[in-house]
Amino acid sequence: MAELEAFSDSYAEARQKFVEAALRAGAKLTSYKHPAERGPGGEALYLDVSVLGPGNASRVFVVGSGTHGIEGYSGSAVQRAWLRGRPRLPKDTAVVFFHAQNPWGFAHKTRVTEENVDLNRNFIDFSKPLPRNPGYAELQTAIAIKDWNEESIAGAFVELDAYRERVGEKAFSDAFNGGQYTHQDGIFYGGARKQWSNSAFRAAVETHLERARSVAFLDLHTGIGPRGEHVYLCFHPEASPARERACAWWGERAVNLQGVTHNKLATYSGTIIDAFSGMLPSAEVTSIVVEFGTLPRREMQRAGLAQRWMRFEGPRDPVLAAKVRREYEAAFYPADPEWRKAVQEQSREFIDRGVAGISSS
Ligand SMILES: [Zn+2]
Repeated sequence: MAELEAFSDSYAEARQKFVEAALRAGAKLTSYKHPAERGPGGEALYLDVSVLGPGNASRVFVVGSGTHGIEGYSGSAVQRAWLRGRPRLPKDTAVVFFHAQNPWGFAHKTRVTEENVDLNRNFIDFSKPLPRNPGYAELQTAIAIKDWNEESIAGAFVELDAYRERVGEKAFSDAFNGGQYTHQDGIFYGGARKQWSNSAFRAAVETHLERARSVAFLDLHTGIGPRGEHVYLCFHPEASPARERACAWWGERAVNLQGVTHNKLATYSGTIIDAFSGMLPSAEVTSIVVEFGTLPRREMQRAGLAQRWMRFEGPRDPVLAAKVRREYEAAFYPADPEWRKAVQEQSREFIDRGVAGISSS
C-alpha cells in the first residue's frame, strides 16, 4: 500500500527515503552531522533540512520531526508523503522540513538524547539558574523502578496516584512531566547542558529562516490524543495575534485542546517551540504542536517509566528488556496499518492548511 510505504523501520531507512523525496521534489538539502554519536548500526546521524521554494521567501512554513526521537518515525513519514504529493507552493512561500531533530533518539528508538535528555525540555538558558521542580524529586523513588514486573509497576502507580490526589492534576503534571533538571537518571530530564540537537536546531533556524518575515513552525509528535487522531497544542497566550492565526488556519480545535488526553497540561520548561519564537524576534511567528494519539495517558506514563527502566536497569536483563522495548515502541510508533493510514490522511490536510494560512498572512 502506497500510504504505508512512507513508514520506516530504522533511522537509516527513514533518512534515505526523506532525502530521496526531498531531492525528487526539487528541494535543497542541508545536513548537520552529529560529530560524535552513531546509530545502532554504526550509521552517522544528521539533522537534515529540506527547503522547497525560494530560499529567500518572506513566508516560510516549517515542519519538524523527531524532537522526541522515536516519535520521528511517523513525523518522517508525514514529511515524505507530503513531498511526494507534488506540492505546488504559493508565491514568495517556502516549505522547510527539519528531519530528525533528535537523530540519536530516532535511531535508538527512544524519546531522549544520548544523554537521557528530553530535547523538548532542553531549550533553557544554561547561563541562568536551572528551573526548579521540587515535585519531581518527590516522585523519583516511585519512577525509578528497579525490577520491571506488574507488581512493581502497580506499586509505582499507587504512589503517583497518591501524589496526584494530594496536589491536584495541574501540580501533578508539572511535577511528573513539566521537566526536571536534578535527576539525570530520571524522566523528562532537561539536561545539565545544551544538547548537540539543540545547537544543530539553532544553527539551522539561523541559516534558513533569518530572512523570513512570517514563519510558522509545526512540530510533529505522537502519544497525546485519541488513538489515530491528531490533536493540537497551542502555547501562544490567550488573545495573542499568533493564537488567532493558529485558530484561523486550523480552526477552533487548534487552540481549545479538543481531544487532548491529559486532564491538565503541565507548564513545560525549555520547549523547542518557545525557543523557536525567541530565535526569530523580528519575524511574525506562529507555532503549533501536532500530536497523533496512540494509547491512553496511563499507558503512556507506563511507557515513560519503561523508557527509564530500559536504559538504566534493562542491561541486567536483556530478555525482559527486549519485551519491554516492544511495548515501548508500540506506544510511540504503532505498527497498526490503520493507525499509519490515519496519520497519512490527516497530515496532508493540516500541512496544506498551514501553507495556505501563511501565504495569506
Ligand atoms: Zn513528543
